[in-house]
Amino acid sequence: MSHLELLPINVAGEWRLGGGDEYQSLYPATGEPIARLRAASLADVEEAIAHADVAFRTSGWAQMLPHLRAAVLHRVAAIIRERSEDLAQKQRLDNGKPISETRALVASAAGTFQFFAAALETLEDTITPSRGPFVTMSVHEPMGVVAAITPWNSPIASEAQKLAPALAAGNAVVVKPAEVTPLMALELAKICEEAGVPRGIVSVLPGKGSVIGDAITKHPLVKRVSFTGGTTTGKHIAHIAADKMMPVSLELGGKSPTMVLDDADLDHAVAGVLYGIFSSSGESCIAGSRLFVARGIYDEFVTRLAEAAKNLRVGDPADERTQMGPLITAKHREGIERYVDLGVSEGGRIRTGGVRPQGAGFDAGYFYTPTILEGLTNSARITQEEIFGPVLVAMPFDNEEELIAQANDSVYALAAGVWSRDFKRAWRLGRAVQAGTVWVNTYKQFSVSTPFGGWRDSGLGREKGREGIFQYMEQKSMYWGT
Ligand code: NAD
Repeated sequence: MSHLELLPINVAGEWRLGGGDEYQSLYPATGEPIARLRAASLADVEEAIAHADVAFRTSGWAQMLPHLRAAVLHRVAAIIRERSEDLAQKQRLDNGKPISETRALVASAAGTFQFFAAALETLEDTITPSRGPFVTMSVHEPMGVVAAITPWNSPIASEAQKLAPALAAGNAVVVKPAEVTPLMALELAKICEEAGVPRGIVSVLPGKGSVIGDAITKHPLVKRVSFTGGTTTGKHIAHIAADKMMPVSLELGGKSPTMVLDDADLDHAVAGVLYGIFSSSGESCIAGSRLFVARGIYDEFVTRLAEAAKNLRVGDPADERTQMGPLITAKHREGIERYVDLGVSEGGRIRTGGVRPQGAGFDAGYFYTPTILEGLTNSARITQEEIFGPVLVAMPFDNEEELIAQANDSVYALAAGVWSRDFKRAWRLGRAVQAGTVWVNTYKQFSVSTPFGGWRDSGLGREKGREGIFQYMEQKSMYWGT
């Protein structure tokens, strides 16, 4: 460990060691340290936010003509693309996702900067129809200092999703990445600086959420928090926001239903359901973790799915052929194991998986096998609570009415999947299921131009989409007398 140099963090326009405790980021596939850094301290938070406020008011970033600010963001996208392989490898080490997935996330981060640069360039304020002897206009202003608080499961993509629109809108941004995955946010801050974002406009403050994230959220100069993470943390942030009368967006947990109808293309559905739950080791807010299959095809479908799950290539994230890497930490794996034990104690049968893989290459990392449980109802705890791991509960259903009632019986409502060849049935179910995103005959696909967010305990607000930039702006109506 000592051979690793301490990584600087970005506070108030300076790259320097954090003032908090030293810690290491571990490679989940081996448990080896890959970075050593000192977390931000509360004094760092104070300094970074005060400086960001000054940079917002004086650096010229907020006043820059939109096409010039957009040009800087296009450069950010270009630098991400130039360094994409290096970034993808670093992210693999930081959170253990297979390299094929981290490459896709890096590409999506570049695309996000490009998209919001274009959104900024084409933004139009409007003159509204007059109702009197005046002309009215609706204009948008940047907010000042905004915060982006992100989880560990999809770094770079999560950070880009917040940084790009917040910067496009002309704000200063304080980023608080998850403690265990600080590297990508630091890389993005470097890239922003190189592309021409003025120093101090972006700060990165790694550290404990309950200390650093909390202090950022409560800070009076922070005008908005965009948060992605767990529902409990999201509710805590919402309370602070209510006290400050601060807008927030909350992208939270999920327990998404996937519905396979008896007329589905089964090859297609098996592959899609498999990807929907086991890609990213199931550490995905939108993981399709509750599977409902029409009773008439249930046995055949689950037999094929279990076979495919058993054959998934679990292993070294550096290997291009790997389909599932390790879990993020040893502690997280223990939590998943407890959930599987709970599922069994609730009457569930393990159809496949439910153990740590054995053999060379699996000794030190936090690996777990793709797991499918059966024999449970939708009301079991394992079917209701977010596990955030490669664990699927499969259940048969008898009719559409029962299916929809069960699919919607969850505190979460983030995403859903429907598999059917019948357009009308898919339309009916897609409209009846309560979820922020519905995939029909596909799953876990993303487009930056399409808004994303959840209902109920899955969150508040939407990210992405052209309108995403307005989340980071205040609207102002102006009346001009004639
Ligand atoms: P988490 O809530 O523990 O942490 C998320 C972030 O919040 C981290 O940076 C953490 O340090 C910070 N944080 C923790 N306590 C805080 C506090 N009191 N004040 C301010 N910040 C605080 O979540 P996690 O374990 O990192 O991520 C997993 C969760 O994220 C899952 O529930 C998953 O569903 C959710 N998630 C949601 C989406 C989405 O878009 N809806 C995407 C990815 C992950």
